[in-house]
Amino acid sequence: MSHLTQQQLKQLKKKLDDRYEIVLREVRSELDAAGKQNLEGLNPGTGDAGDESVADLLADLGATLVDRQIQELRVIEAARDRMRDGTYGECSNCGSEIPFERLAAYPTAMRDVPCQTQYEKNYAHEGRPTL
Ligand SMILES: [Zn+2]
Repeated sequence: MSHLTQQQLKQLKKKLDDRYEIVLREVRSELDAAGKQNLEGLNPGTGDAGDESVADLLADLGATLVDRQIQELRVIEAARDRMRDGTYGECSNCGSEIPFERLAAYPTAMRDVPCQTQYEKNYAHEGRPTL
């Protein structure tokens, strides 16, 4: 069971939902601009209705111009999935509880701060050289 209260989870869920709609709107306008009309099924607000991933749907459309947004939608969808199975707020690396304050700032965070710092050290290709 999550260490977060129902109230906190609700708050974080809303952040995720709001962000999701914003990204989806960006996607729509970019696809509109590109002249793609095949956008049935992309209805913000119905995210909980079915399990079909909008990100997958978009990827199927070959919408390479919205790659960045698709990535972000996937990350948000993954966070919503974790909320559904009750693993949201657990560090994916060490299993520790991610503090609410961190989740409030980064609702899609998958790691706690120590693990994230370590991760960025390992995967940073630019910046300080590792010693
Ligand atoms: Zn951790």
